[in-house]
Amino acid sequence: MLFGAHVSSSGGIWQAIDRAEAMGCDAVQVFTQSPRMWRPTNHTPEAVARFRERREEARIGSVVCHALYLVNLANPDPVIHGKSVAAMRSSLEAAAAIGAEGVIFHVGSHLGAGFEAGLEHVVPALRELLELTTDDLWLLMENSAGAGGTIGRSTDELAAIHDALDHHPRLGICIDSCHWYVSGVDVTDRTALDAAVEEIDSRIGLDRLRCLHVNDSKAALGSNLDRHDSIGVGLMAAGLRTFLTHPAFQELPAILETPGPEGHGPDADEVARLRALHGS
Ligand SMILES: [Zn+2]
Ligand SMILES: [Zn+2]
Repeated sequence: MLFGAHVSSSGGIWQAIDRAEAMGCDAVQVFTQSPRMWRPTNHTPEAVARFRERREEARIGSVVCHALYLVNLANPDPVIHGKSVAAMRSSLEAAAAIGAEGVIFHVGSHLGAGFEAGLEHVVPALRELLELTTDDLWLLMENSAGAGGTIGRSTDELAAIHDALDHHPRLGICIDSCHWYVSGVDVTDRTALDAAVEEIDSRIGLDRLRCLHVNDSKAALGSNLDRHDSIGVGLMAAGLRTFLTHPAFQELPAILETPGPEGHGPDADEVARLRALHGS
């Protein structure tokens, strides 16, 4: 397992590597632009070269990018839909430039129109975006916490998207422990977790699972509330070890997206706690 965290890339994309190294990470997740603005960040060739150089020096085994929070590929409004596709496109371009292995995204919300109606907007958008992927850079759908009309609340929904895209070879998934928990998958229980992993394997294929988000939860099992908590202090507490040590997950990057001690994200101490919880 490669232990890592989502880190800020403010001040220059390469600074994400500096921060990850200082935290003792083997893997890192970054935004390639501000997640709450449509406007893309222009990364200079020098910044990109420095990122790649620093990654080598810091021995970061896995780099993934997270798309903007604003993206909603299921939105029927052509303006928002178009902006979402354009933003995903620039995330993929920036990810390719820095040598990232994946762009993780939330599929979006059907805004009450229903899953099938949402799919009609999601599928053509993904078909177009998958053109920009390579054997080294995949698109990774993240499971949602299941609030409102969000798409991706279950393996069934993720599998339906996969089916609609004819099991595209570069469309993978990222599983978030907190989102699974609040969607009703008790990841602290080995039997429940085995069943959920088996469902991924039979419906999508475990080879498509390329990344984990490891977050504890402030919200209850099945509550559909997306409230991440830090390692060791949420409702899952030591039970998160069951998720972390599952045999199917051991080759994957495990990325923290937790609030951390001051609400600014995880720190070195939390990465150490993550390793300790895993037992490595
Ligand atoms: Zn996540
Ligand atoms: Zn979340």
